[in-house]
Formats: sequence, structure tokens, C-alpha cells
Amino acid sequence: MQGMHKILSKGTAMQNPILVLNCGSSSIKYALLSNDSSERVAGLAENLGLDTARIKHTDLNGEKVEISLAGANHQWALQKILGLLAAYKPVAVGHRVVHGGREFSHAEKVNDHVLAEVKRLKVLAPLHNPAHALGIEAVEKIYPDLPQVVVFDTAFHQTMPAKAYRYAIPKDLYNEHYIRRYGFHGSSHAYVSHRADSLAPHHQANGWITVHLGNGCSLTAVYDGKSLDTSMGLTPLEGVVMGTRSGDVDPSLHIHLHRILGYSLDQIDTILNKQSGLLGISGISSDMRTVEQAANEGNEDAKLAIEIFCYKAARYIASLSCALPTFTGLVFTGGIGENSASIRQKILQNLPHFGIKANLDKNAELSRGVEGSFHQADSLLQLWVIPTDEEYQIAKETKEVLGL
Ligand code: AMP
Repeated sequence: MQGMHKILSKGTAMQNPILVLNCGSSSIKYALLSNDSSERVAGLAENLGLDTARIKHTDLNGEKVEISLAGANHQWALQKILGLLAAYKPVAVGHRVVHGGREFSHAEKVNDHVLAEVKRLKVLAPLHNPAHALGIEAVEKIYPDLPQVVVFDTAFHQTMPAKAYRYAIPKDLYNEHYIRRYGFHGSSHAYVSHRADSLAPHHQANGWITVHLGNGCSLTAVYDGKSLDTSMGLTPLEGVVMGTRSGDVDPSLHIHLHRILGYSLDQIDTILNKQSGLLGISGISSDMRTVEQAANEGNEDAKLAIEIFCYKAARYIASLSCALPTFTGLVFTGGIGENSASIRQKILQNLPHFGIKANLDKNAELSRGVEGSFHQADSLLQLWVIPTDEEYQIAKETKEVLGL
């Protein structure tokens, strides 16, 4: 589906479009989707707060334009973005919000209470939630009557049972300080699992493991449309190997690094979030294309990075299968999952015990936004590649909340 949307041409009317915003600490990703989501205008404001602040926008003719906004903050950038989109008259705004804590199990219309909760939950997402709140407040100032909805990355995983979301640590830490597993990438896992349900030949309750592999990577066990377990935890650091994130390490690593090297908690946090993963192991890049190229040229560190990446993803597939009453198949998505047939194949090679039979020719055909399956007829598990569409999912939930 992704990549197949029509770019708006001059004069195209959009009926009841929804504006989807993803406000980060120094960036705002935006997409305006028509009512049936078949048409969209999208762009990115980046480097906010710096002299190099700019908006990269796809204009009415489908041409890309870059607008310099030196020193712009969130409100200024949003003012400009809303100005660029004003001709289409968005009827609502849907915000991607990273953390909804224990409070939010579905999308919510923004009101004073919801905004206060988004702010309060910065304790769980210090980099993200304050930026989302800035975005909500900026829109409110510019268009006070425009309804806004928050769609939480964590909400899809609120259906996880306690055996999946609790850590084996003293219960007071859960009861009083909300220390538990939350899971992330909810809009992506929701979108691709629902899409797989609609594409799979039989329409009984399906059990999928959705494998989202991008710069951030997470896997989710989804049964009958509900998340039952996922690889990310309290923060998006837990789980598999990612671009710059380590995924699981021994929890004693922090104290060990502190003891032997004198590292502070902040230094260790930076190492595990920004200097690890594919980048840390390969020493070359966090970008899978670059790492794959180096591996193809014989670089041993790059080869090892790919080997560990695929092995860890496969280990998580095997372990998450414990959560599923029935195991229908795997759904690959995200920049790596959608595009790299060789990574998909290497992950499957690490799963010899599930009766998986892949059609390698079909696997090789699935990239660049192409959706399809690549299992053989007698494979015990179905294998799907489904390009994710978080904007579609956020727009859909926004409309549901507002009854549009
Ligand atoms: P995302 O965060 O979903 O945009 O995914 C970004 C990741 O997808 C980066 O590691 C890219 O190198 C990777 N990626 C994109 N296209 C390809 C490709 N054709 N082959 C391998 N990796 C790719």
C-alpha cells in the first residue's frame, strides 16, 4: 500500500482530510490524508531550534520544495505547515504519542486532562512526550477549534496479560512506580496484523508474529487482533538488535561498566541507545544497507553484525510463539523487513523447527512497497511482507475517536 498513494495534483479537492503529526524533540513529521487515505501530502520539519531549521514539503504538483526557517521552534514550524496545508482544510489532527503509560489503552480526544497526562508521562518517555505536548499546544494556539486526538504507541499492547508485561522485580515497583513492560511501535503492529488478517486465506482467529525491522526494531505476538506479547519493554531499548540500540543485555552491565570503567549512568544510556546495535558491532553504520554492502565486500565485523541481528530476531520469534494459541505466520515490515530479502531469509534460516518453507524467488520480489506472501503451499507458517502505514493507522483511529 505504501508508496502507491497518489500525490495530490493541483486543484485536487480532499474530502475531510486528517492531519497526522509526529512531533519529535527537533522535528515534526506530517502527513495530510484524504478521507479514504488514497491521497496524501507529506513533509518534514527538521533541525528545529537551530539556524538550519527547514521544512521539506511535497508541493501541490508532487514536487519537493525546501523552505528555510532559521531558528524556528515547534509553534512557528507548525504555523508554516498549517499554512502550507490550509487550502485542504483538515478536519482533525491525529498525533503520534510515544508513551501512554498504563492509563491509555486506546486513542483519546485531547482535553486538559489528556494533555496533562501526556506531559506527566514524560517520566517514562523523557525525549518524546514533551515534544508531543508542544505540538498539541501549538496546534491549539493556531486553531483552537480543530479537534485533536492522541494515538499512543503503547496503547495496542495494553491487551498483554500480566505474565507478559510484569518484570520479576518487587511488586511495589509496579504498583507505585509503574515499572512494567509497555511495548512500542503499536500503530505499525496494529496496521500490519490487521492487514494480514484481511489478506490471509482463512478468516478464523489468526496468530501472527509481526516483525518490524527499521532503525528501531520490535516484534509482537498478535492473536485475533490483540497484542499478547512484544519485544520492547519499559522503554524501546529492550528486545532485539536495532540500528544503534543494543536490545537485551545483562541488566548487570550497568554496574559492571561503572565498576571497571567508571562510566556514569548517562554515559551507559548513551552507549546502549546511540552507539550499539548494528553500529556498535560493525563499527561502520547503523544503516542496514551500508552494513550489508560492507558484508558483501568481505568486512567481517559487518558480517557478524548481520549474523547477530538475524539470530536475535529469530530467537524472539521462537520465544514470542509461546504467547500464541495458534501460530499462523510471520509478517515482515519496516525499512529492513520490507526491503531486504536476504535479511528475511537469514532470519528464517535461524528457525529450523517451525516447518517454515519459503519460496525464495517470491521473497526476492518483495521490496520497495510491494506487498505479498512468500511461503510455499506446504509451509506450516505463512510468510508475509506488508509495508507498514502508521499514518493510515493514526488517521483511522483519529476518525474513530471523533466519529468522523
Ligand atoms: P525505517 O526506520 O523503517 O525507515 O528503516 C530504516 C532501515 O531500513 C535502515 O537500516 C535502512 O538501511 C533499511 N533499509 C531500507 N531499504 C533497505 C534495503 N533495500 N535493504 C536493506 N535495508 C534497507
